[in-house]
Amino acid sequence: MNIAIFGLGYVGAVSAACLARDGHAVLGVDVDPNKLELIRGGRSPIVEEGIQELTAQMVSEGRLQVTDDVEAAVGASALSFVCVGTPSQPNGSQDLKAIEHVAEQIGAALRGQDQYHVVVIRSTVRPGTVMERVKPILETQSGKRLGEGFGLAFQPEFLREGTSIRDYDNPPFTVVGADSERTLSVVRTLFEHLPCEFLGTDIGTAEMLKYACNAFHALKIVFANEIGRLSQALGVDSREVMRLVTQDRQLNISPAYLRPGFAFGGSCLPKDLRALLYMAKEEDTELPMLDGVVRSNQQQIDHAVDFILQQGRRQVGMIGLSFKSGTDDLRESPLVTLAERLIGKGIELRIHDPNVQLARLLGANRRFIEDKLPHIGRLLSEDCGALIQDSELIIVGLSDAPLSEQVIANAKPSQTVLDLVGMKGLDRLQAAYRGI
Ligand code: NAD
Repeated sequence: MNIAIFGLGYVGAVSAACLARDGHAVLGVDVDPNKLELIRGGRSPIVEEGIQELTAQMVSEGRLQVTDDVEAAVGASALSFVCVGTPSQPNGSQDLKAIEHVAEQIGAALRGQDQYHVVVIRSTVRPGTVMERVKPILETQSGKRLGEGFGLAFQPEFLREGTSIRDYDNPPFTVVGADSERTLSVVRTLFEHLPCEFLGTDIGTAEMLKYACNAFHALKIVFANEIGRLSQALGVDSREVMRLVTQDRQLNISPAYLRPGFAFGGSCLPKDLRALLYMAKEEDTELPMLDGVVRSNQQQIDHAVDFILQQGRRQVGMIGLSFKSGTDDLRESPLVTLAERLIGKGIELRIHDPNVQLARLLGANRRFIEDKLPHIGRLLSEDCGALIQDSELIIVGLSDAPLSEQVIANAKPSQTVLDLVGMKGLDRLQAAYRGI
């Protein structure tokens, strides 16, 4: 199928490369000329396992192309995926400007086009957005009614940064909310080969499903972290407790997100929880448990800050800056918050993160660091070995085995190791403090 993809960020870049690999002709569209330039040159705009190689191969074989010409992209395609950002506004509500802008552009491009076109929204949007905001824009701009010239669907995206190509190929399930059987069957042809169930539903349910899943993931993380905090205080191994909890057949629960570790962050969980709480306020509905999830997550960071300051160490080295292993994504990273809270407290902080470093070299996230985090960018160090050697306190914030092996091999008993992620082997270090 000929497919247009709007938004070539973490979701769009992976979808574009994987759909091209699966045999489709993909045309990517983005408003960021830097991203178009990178992909045109065979480079991925994000750092993820396997994405550089796959992007290079798809571009060189001509199966993945990019353009800023929306009319040409829609005209050449049977289906458009919309993967643009839906960031939080200061009050927690969603900024839908990018979605509305793309809907206007696609709608205008559909005017005068004979071929039936399916528009699939993959960005996370509050229930009602697709039918109440996207559909009227498409209808007005195209001069066509839904079902006549175009179909409309919402397909929640379940990939996790760090493992996104693997997740693309092995999603927990595929759920599509569609306006009609016709639309659903077009989307099904793209995903029916995947080893999971393909479920059709209505658009509102699919929109809400994404929020429900993300809220539950966040709940699992803070639950494991609270059990971790108390276990730590009681001298119990929280990892073992949680490992056994997941064996309880009555709970019947996946161990994913249930390892005690550091606070959650990233571009989805915090933003989507804020959006849920905002919607609840608008609807005059109290959600005390989800309110508590946000507060508990903040306390996890407070707990780490208190511990570090109590140590009274001056030279502090932090391994990790992105919000989790395997990605360069710095959005709402709890390690960025931690670093910001340590600055100006009499601490000399150095930070090492291989993926952030790689993205800087590739020119992928340079602007993000320079525009939004210049104070943090100055603390980045390429040399992990020197950072370990020179630090009195080493914070391990990424669960990358090679990095923790470096700490295990080089840390001295005079150093304190604060293991935020519960890495295997780090607990053998004499001065390690584990399981925050
Ligand atoms: P991102 O910020 O990395 O990418 C969004 C891209 O859209 C950017 O490259 C931006 O330049 C582009 N864009 C903005 N306006 C545009 C326009 N008018 N036309 C074309 N391109 C435009 O965001 P992301 O992390 O890929 O997330 C995208 C959406 O998917 C969000 O709604 C997010 O909540 C959702 N989501 C993200 C993940 C994830 O792991 N990142 C997982 C599931 C769902």
